Amino acid sequence: MAKDYRQMWESIGVDLEAHDKLLNVLPPTYGQVYMSQENRPEGMEYFDFVISEVHGLRIQELQEHKAAGGKVIGAFCVFVPEEIVRAAGGICVGLCSGVEIGAAKAEKVLPRNICPLIKSFMGFKLGKVCPYFESCDMVVGETTCDGKKKAFEILNDYVPVHMMETPQMKREKDKQLWRSEVQDFLVKVEEFTGSKVTDTSLRQSIKDINGKRRALLRLSELRKNIPTPISGKDCLLIEQIAMYDDVPRFTAQLNALCDELEVRVKEGKGFAEPAAPRIIVTGTPMALPNWKIPHIIETSGAVIVAEELCTGLRYFENLVPEEAENTGQMVEDIASRYLNINCACFTPNEGRMEKLVNLAKEYKADGIIHCSLAFCDPYLVEANRVENILKENDIPMLKIETDYGQEDSGQIKTRVEAFLEMIDKK
Ligand code: SF4
Ligand code: SF4
Repeated sequence: MAKDYRQMWESIGVDLEAHDKLLNVLPPTYGQVYMSQENRPEGMEYFDFVISEVHGLRIQELQEHKAAGGKVIGAFCVFVPEEIVRAAGGICVGLCSGVEIGAAKAEKVLPRNICPLIKSFMGFKLGKVCPYFESCDMVVGETTCDGKKKAFEILNDYVPVHMMETPQMKREKDKQLWRSEVQDFLVKVEEFTGSKVTDTSLRQSIKDINGKRRALLRLSELRKNIPTPISGKDCLLIEQIAMYDDVPRFTAQLNALCDELEVRVKEGKGFAEPAAPRIIVTGTPMALPNWKIPHIIETSGAVIVAEELCTGLRYFENLVPEEAENTGQMVEDIASRYLNINCACFTPNEGRMEKLVNLAKEYKADGIIHCSLAFCDPYLVEANRVENILKENDIPMLKIETDYGQEDSGQIKTRVEAFLEMIDKK
């Protein structure tokens, strides 16, 4: 980081000693995972810069926003409608929780055997490690899975948490419940920010967030080419950054990168050899800086062409219609868009199975790697249904269960290599 931000971090309540430990891990990991790649597009420079300033410039921007009377609202799930936060003049930041820091503190209030993502966010808050978390005036929780739902009750002792009841099914009565939750969220955000959401501000916000999603979709489309013009690791990074960067700036930078990738495609330039096995990853979100499995896959000779993850397609694949005339209709449209997300917390979750079969065809994938975080019951259990349906469609699948530690990396690499060899012989 170019500038010394220690004073800023201290002033927002970050524990500098714990934060130093995090910063000591991040840059070497980033160098090893990202800067070791060859033949990267020039447009990745912006995203490298964002990471180099991950706790610097963006935090400074959030603090300036707060000093001017604005609010920062944190989210842990792609069900939180960021359009509404933006329409009320707030900034919505995705809180990452992709690294095991502060586990000892988290284990004082949580069981040891809980999903690493939940343990991570609790550790971040109790350890005062994350300047994004410390910048948040409010956090939005959801009732997606039991572990998170109960953890938010504890988190509420440390930061105001607004809970949204996410349904577990997609029947008409569930749709109605979700619509009313989105409406209540709008009222809560208005009260909290002191700003009214108007027809004009919500319409503009829908367009802005759609703009970001369109740029991410454009990147996805480009990855359908053989050879694919960019690595999966770089795309995952972009998808992770999408959750907290300034919306118009991110959209412009990503569109510029896509312009460059279009030229690459025309010239037949790819990240990997055209014959490299094409893989789709699916499962639990890979929150920043969790790049473990993609790094293993792409250093084993394959290329990842799509992420059926919340840090991936689930975040941007559907847009909100832009033609609605009033806020009521826009709330309805937003609610419908979000209820299309195929999270494993739903039962049944047929949409995810159909999606995976279609994605394999569209992206000309040779195989799918299903990655679940340890103790994540929804995805670990659903992996069985996914496996059966992919088998019926003759799509090879590898199932991986892991956490944020590196101890199992060697063993996973051996399994991934064997899977790629099997695909190659097919
Ligand atoms: S996996 Fe489900 S609960 Fe987790 S972020 Fe995605 S939608 Fe939310
Ligand atoms: S990864 Fe699974 S267990 Fe963890 S918060 Fe998400 S849905 Fe819940």
